[in-house]
Amino acid sequence: MRPEQLLYPAPEGLFCPIGGFYIDPVQPVERALITHGHSDHARSGHAHVLATRQTLDIMRIRYGAEFAGSEQAADFGEEETINGVKVSFHPAGHVLGSAQIAVEKDGLRIVVSGDYKRRPDPTCAAYVPVPCDVFITEATFGLPVFHHPDPMVETRKLLASLRQFPERTHLIGAYALGKAQRVIRLLRDAGYDKPIYIHGALETLCDYYISQGIALGELRPATVESRDQSIFHGAVVVGPPSAFQDRWARRFHDPLPAFASGWMMVRQRAKQLGVELPLVISDHCDWPELTETISELKPAEVWVTHGREEALVRWCELQGIAAKPLHLIGYEDEGD
Ligand SMILES: [Zn+2]
Repeated sequence: MRPEQLLYPAPEGLFCPIGGFYIDPVQPVERALITHGHSDHARSGHAHVLATRQTLDIMRIRYGAEFAGSEQAADFGEEETINGVKVSFHPAGHVLGSAQIAVEKDGLRIVVSGDYKRRPDPTCAAYVPVPCDVFITEATFGLPVFHHPDPMVETRKLLASLRQFPERTHLIGAYALGKAQRVIRLLRDAGYDKPIYIHGALETLCDYYISQGIALGELRPATVESRDQSIFHGAVVVGPPSAFQDRWARRFHDPLPAFASGWMMVRQRAKQLGVELPLVISDHCDWPELTETISELKPAEVWVTHGREEALVRWCELQGIAAKPLHLIGYEDEGD
């Protein structure tokens, strides 16, 4: 069987015609397998969803109880057969609940990695390499120029800034699913034990992480109206990037805008966003991690789903690995 007979990019997303299912479809479908809870991968309105328990919970938190017609939880490493096609979920190390999905038929195995990273992250299960014939990878940071620093070094920059500007409210922009909890946890692991204030949009997801055993320390609501402004002097406030454009952010005293994202290594982006303290903390692989992962897996073929596809395809070809871009649309990761 050719790999394209098992899985191919349809307009709705990656489609397995034999199994009759899609992976991370961008439109409502009959049967969807979902890699993780970011909104570009996990959409509401599918008739049936198969995903990890945590991804299903996250979808329910974000979209409400009616997010899908029916749901089924997949355990890591367990095999499920759908219309004669074997599927299994494996940790991707991206955010809580995130999975790679292996699709197998007649000895041909394709692994859809979704979004993944290799750096240690105590807020989710660590990436597990899954041997395969075809490895489908993202390439969000798929250019040789992308080297992400150690996230703990970035966290220490934040602590240094808090010491240097003890009166200023440190406002940290971080995506609500994954990045916010990771930044909070990094601060805790760096020894920061004061209360951390969070925007209301982060509350239910932070509570969910805590319920799953991810310690985040003391979190308090960053509600400006009802409180004495002075409690925010020198405090850490975490909110979704979108909140930084509205009135909520302007109420803090002399705020110091920070932003946690892999894109913060691009100075121009930080500048455009008015970020004073860029924190290069990414939930994706950087270039060395992408290429090391492919070298480690040694697949016969690599398909690149989204991001900077061309450079990674070229790199694979230079290594003697067949590769092609899939040009999937609709994936603009909310959790970079
Ligand atoms: Zn993602």
